[in-house]
Amino acid sequence: MQNSPAPEGAAEDDALVRSETRRRALFEAIDDGFCIIEFIDGPEGPLSDYVHVESNSGYERQTGIKDVVGKRLREIEPNNADVWLDIYGGVLRTGETVRFEQEFKAIGRHIEVSATRLEPESLRQVSVLFRDITARKSAEAALRQSEALARDYIQRVQLALAAGAIIGTWFWDVPADKFTVDEAFATAFGFDPSLGRSGLSLSQVIETVHPDDQAGLAAAIGKALKAGGPYAHQYRTRRLDGNYYWLEANGRVDLGPDGKALAFPGVLIDIEARRAVEEERDRALAELRTLTETLEQRVEERTDALMHAEEALRQAQKMEAVGQLTGGLAHDFNNILAGISGSLELMKTRLAQGRLVDIDRYLTGAQGAVKRASGLTQRLLAFSRRQTLDPKPSNINRIIAGMHDLITRSVGPGIEVETAAAGGLWTAFVDIGQLENALLNLCINARDAMPNGGKLTVETGNRWLDERAARERGVEPGQYVSMCVSDTGTGMSQDVIARAFDPFFTTKPTGQGTGLGLSMVYGFAGQSGGAARIYSELGKGTMICIYLPRHIADGIEEEVLAPDIAAPVASGKTTILVVDDEPLVRMVAVEILEELGYSVLEAEDAPSALKILSARPDIDLLVTDVGLPNGMNGRQLADAVRTDRPDLPVLFVTGYAENAVLNHGHLERGMQVLTKPFASDVFARRVSELTSGQ
Ligand code: ADP
Ligand code: MG
Repeated sequence: MQNSPAPEGAAEDDALVRSETRRRALFEAIDDGFCIIEFIDGPEGPLSDYVHVESNSGYERQTGIKDVVGKRLREIEPNNADVWLDIYGGVLRTGETVRFEQEFKAIGRHIEVSATRLEPESLRQVSVLFRDITARKSAEAALRQSEALARDYIQRVQLALAAGAIIGTWFWDVPADKFTVDEAFATAFGFDPSLGRSGLSLSQVIETVHPDDQAGLAAAIGKALKAGGPYAHQYRTRRLDGNYYWLEANGRVDLGPDGKALAFPGVLIDIEARRAVEEERDRALAELRTLTETLEQRVEERTDALMHAEEALRQAQKMEAVGQLTGGLAHDFNNILAGISGSLELMKTRLAQGRLVDIDRYLTGAQGAVKRASGLTQRLLAFSRRQTLDPKPSNINRIIAGMHDLITRSVGPGIEVETAAAGGLWTAFVDIGQLENALLNLCINARDAMPNGGKLTVETGNRWLDERAARERGVEPGQYVSMCVSDTGTGMSQDVIARAFDPFFTTKPTGQGTGLGLSMVYGFAGQSGGAARIYSELGKGTMICIYLPRHIADGIEEEVLAPDIAAPVASGKTTILVVDDEPLVRMVAVEILEELGYSVLEAEDAPSALKILSARPDIDLLVTDVGLPNGMNGRQLADAVRTDRPDLPVLFVTGYAENAVLNHGHLERGMQVLTKPFASDVFARRVSELTSGQ
């Protein structure tokens, strides 16, 4: 023992040894573990550790710690030291005994620990007693569990009783194999109550069970007999009326010390009503399930329908673009027809006059017009043919070149069209028909944004999108081919830009916009693995770009040709000025007028017409086409002339749906409209009306 007062004499020594031996014997006799700890000052500060100065053999049994004497806390429990120091330090400081329960997981035991300060305090010692309470603990737990079971059982029985659902009770003496039942049980199954008291055979009881449930019941009973404890099983039994009803057997198997079943008492509960409710619930659940299943099927059907609708929409959208074109195309066709019919009429006149020299010229003109018409028709058919998305390696420049004629015609003569095709353009992987459709839609939008004319540019380029640029456009970084359509039109506000790609978003009046063009462009670009983007400034113009992934296949860049198309056709006393950008139409008009004896001047656009008009005040009539190139239409030309010469008669010749330009037919005095194609006599009559001041 350490820190005890030093012995002073032999007698005292003897007594001390004796008392020490007694004390030790006492310590060893008790089952509890015991130790004395003494606080020391460690490197962590004063009283920052303790050393075990004494222990008995019970200590090792209770704590699992061997040879603890002489060991410091921080050696044994370096991680948990503070917890123990806190507890025992408190005892040392206050002198109050503490008692607590602690589970020693290493040895799987519950220990009650009590710690008391040894006096005087200056000893800095605390005695600690460890008592094993594992058995008590598990007994408590078992008690709690059986209480819970009992409560549960009682509750079930009470519930059953309250519901009037108890059929009867049984008691099975398993070793004696005697199965007795109460009167209620016996009557419920039509047994003689006295038989129930004296004992039934198990087979008698099982015989009343529904054949389908017998095996399950036997298995459940076998299991309960083996395992012991609570038993609950549901099955159908035949009652007195001969019908089967659901019941629940609730019981308990008591096992003997050898693990063999001793007793198996229990109660039968009528659960027919409960089953009915449960079956109702199951039916409802099953219904719900089928509903869910058919829902899936319905969703599939809807998805199919939607996909068809989408396909139809795509087609309708294309047809819309065609519709948008019709105005422009009608113009072209009417010009062509005017050329043909005019040439034919002139040929007729010449033939009648016997002047055959000019016939050939008119014939060639008419034939050229027919060729142009068939080229246009073919182009239109190619465009409107039904296409599904079928991407191919494509040369975008070539596609745009093939579309140039169609674009120029559909935007009308007031808009200058320029293409800036990048040299060495990469091959893109794209559906040609869809790209053409997208391009046309962009051009039609540009046209709509430039009601007073302007410039439309289609530009291509190779683009290398880095991380940031790709993220901005919502695509993977990499190589793309860009196709941008820009205009000098109205531009878009931030608000419109934000919504322009939305389906059905349009700022155009009903009947003029469907709001599908850009949404199609957007969808198509996305589907092709690319992106579409809008750059626009109000009042300045708009540029919309489509980025398409570059196609690289074995280093060979295939070229797909755009379908061949027809080559575009580049360009007396009473004096009449004829303005038309179509030379053939102009030629026919001039010929007719000269034939009628007028003196005729010609111009191909408004600026040159204005020049002639200012130089020639003797002009009596202006005959002009409405759709004119180079920034000024026929209406604007007429307005300009009339500021100086308000009385100059004007005859508008138009085949174009240009009613808006002509103020929906409400024209000023001295102005008339003639729709192409026209017969020469109608033309002659109008001209004479206007020149004679009627
Ligand atoms: P729609 O042309 O039928 O209105 P779009 O989807 O093609 O439908 O275009 C949606 C809207 O985006 C247009 O109504 C217009 O407000 C705006 N927009 C599209 N292109 C241009 C453009 N080039 N300039 C100005 N606004 C444009
Ligand atoms: Mg549009």
